[in-house]
Amino acid sequence: MTVTMGSAINLVVLGPPGAGKGTQGVEFARGHGIPQISTGDILRDAVRSGSELGRRARATMEAGRLVDDELMIAIVRERLDREDVAGGFVLDGFPRTVAQAVALDEIMTGRPPLIVIDIAVPDDALVARLARRRVCGACGQATSVDLSPESRCGRCGGELVLRSDDTESVVRERLRVYADATRPLVDYYSQRPSFRAVDGDRSPAEVGAALAAAVDAVLAERAAGRAPAGESRA
Ligand SMILES: [Zn+2]
Repeated sequence: MTVTMGSAINLVVLGPPGAGKGTQGVEFARGHGIPQISTGDILRDAVRSGSELGRRARATMEAGRLVDDELMIAIVRERLDREDVAGGFVLDGFPRTVAQAVALDEIMTGRPPLIVIDIAVPDDALVARLARRRVCGACGQATSVDLSPESRCGRCGGELVLRSDDTESVVRERLRVYADATRPLVDYYSQRPSFRAVDGDRSPAEVGAALAAAVDAVLAERAAGRAPAGESRA
């Protein structure tokens, strides 16, 4: 696909924990030559930079509290004002709440509209997937029991362990928290022409292809239906 002026891909990827949206976002960004912006990374950057926002974020995290919407929005706004997002970006981990989504719409005023892709995976499939996940106790490499049946790390030979937060009860609780907090985001976005849901209960390569196809479909539709400047496609 040719990226032309005005067709910046401003992509938000939604999906429950374990759906692989981080990996998919990184792959998509690399393939399209645009930055992948994860809120974890920009928070760390802000703290390291020692900026006013970074100092506030550090104080909040050191107090063991979650960075609130207002501060998170300010940090994302600052990141999206940098020049490297002119050709587009992939946002990972933001927005997490409807309040953040409303603020993001405001930040996007005057820019190519967001494309929002929801990677949908049934809870039972996520629980089964995470139950097969193992992490190397020595080097931290993640793998699946399907790939390492001898329960040794393929990279360093270390012992593979089940992370305590990958046990079924913890995973189900995490999914419930996700459903409560983040599901309303899908409702917020789902009526837009630039929203698509893709089936995430497939191999990472298949999900990546479906994600790319969904973005292309939105761009094609946008190009075909482009109205005079000023049209508002909420
Ligand atoms: Zn290892």
